[in-house]
Amino acid sequence: MHEAPAVAFAATEAPHRSARPLARIEATLRGLARKGRQRELAAADGVDFTSNDYLALAHSARLTDAARDALARGVPVGAGGSRLLNGNHPEHAALEAEAARFFGAESALFFGSGYAANLALFASLPQRGDLVVHDALVHASARDGIRAGRAEAHEVPHNDAAAVDEAIRRWRAAGATGTPWIAVESLYSMDGDRAPLDDLWAVARRHDAMLVVDEAHATGVHGPLGRGLATHLEGQEQVITLHTCGKALGASGALVLARATVRDYLINRARPFVYATAPSPLMAAVVRAALVALAEEPERRARLAALVDIANRTLSARLGLPESGSQILPVVVGDNGRAVHLAARLRQAGFDVRAIRPPTVPEGGARLRITVTLHADEAAIAGLFDVLGAAIAEGRP
Ligand code: PMP
Repeated sequence: MHEAPAVAFAATEAPHRSARPLARIEATLRGLARKGRQRELAAADGVDFTSNDYLALAHSARLTDAARDALARGVPVGAGGSRLLNGNHPEHAALEAEAARFFGAESALFFGSGYAANLALFASLPQRGDLVVHDALVHASARDGIRAGRAEAHEVPHNDAAAVDEAIRRWRAAGATGTPWIAVESLYSMDGDRAPLDDLWAVARRHDAMLVVDEAHATGVHGPLGRGLATHLEGQEQVITLHTCGKALGASGALVLARATVRDYLINRARPFVYATAPSPLMAAVVRAALVALAEEPERRARLAALVDIANRTLSARLGLPESGSQILPVVVGDNGRAVHLAARLRQAGFDVRAIRPPTVPEGGARLRITVTLHADEAAIAGLFDVLGAAIAEGRP
């Protein structure tokens, strides 16, 4: 008769008992809650003063009809695989050709999201021996890309073109021979202010640097036909722009506009492109319709500009805060709990405003991020600032 072989888990001593596997994760969540930082998902609630659907295209007949037409033409919902396999569909190519023409660049590449596009750009293009100088307020997706990449990274104070110049100068003086990359947004997502693009472009030219401009919040809203704030730079060899499709374009995905060499490189080397299922061909058709809407419905932009003007003037008159001059109006309150309380008060009054807390914004920079979209009108803007003015005057909750 055989003796059962000894197996590791049949030890006679009591096994070492670690904490339950989720205990540390629960503790982290409790820590977030203690600091007023725990986030929850909540459905839309009241007049929209929080989304990035600036031109109210998401529910528009223009886009929903485009989706229906595409389905009727046999465009599939799913691509079925990577663009590099047979997930490549004529709708992707049609969108990219239209986008290159619309924005005025040599080529375009469509990604499933702005997050994936930024990750792809920064993780793959800057090489070992390069330097990426980025603004202190660039989006998390650019930061994650930079962190995943091989180049040296250097953060400069917000909107400080002289600091960008100085960082590259020092790096060169130390003998570096690689390529410098400059990463900025044209319109900052949480502050609504603009980058000094002409100064940055001068710095880029001086140092033979690449300038990567994330136009996420400018696309569709600013510049001629809504082509963004870097329109005059599109097509330059040293410029790459990112136009997201989930904000003013009312759909989802992102378009990277650049020289064909950059596009070819991304197709070969950018892991979020190579290893992801292609974006839905149906979405490509819808985004193409959104670009047509920008060209054919300038009245949406004009109406939004009028509302943005009113909202900025009311923010300044009612709350004494500086105007951002854009459709993104930050009301910085500092304290996390206070920001959440004010947002809740506004929602009770029928205005959907959300609190933005660290780490999305810097520590101590909790705020209400009020956006102006075509879902609001003059009366709603007046009402919003009446309620907000009264709530702030009441002091702390
Ligand atoms: N860049 C900026 C500046 C953004 O605000 C966002 C969206 N929050 C992104 C990139 C990511 O785009 P997406 O939502 O399409 O992933």
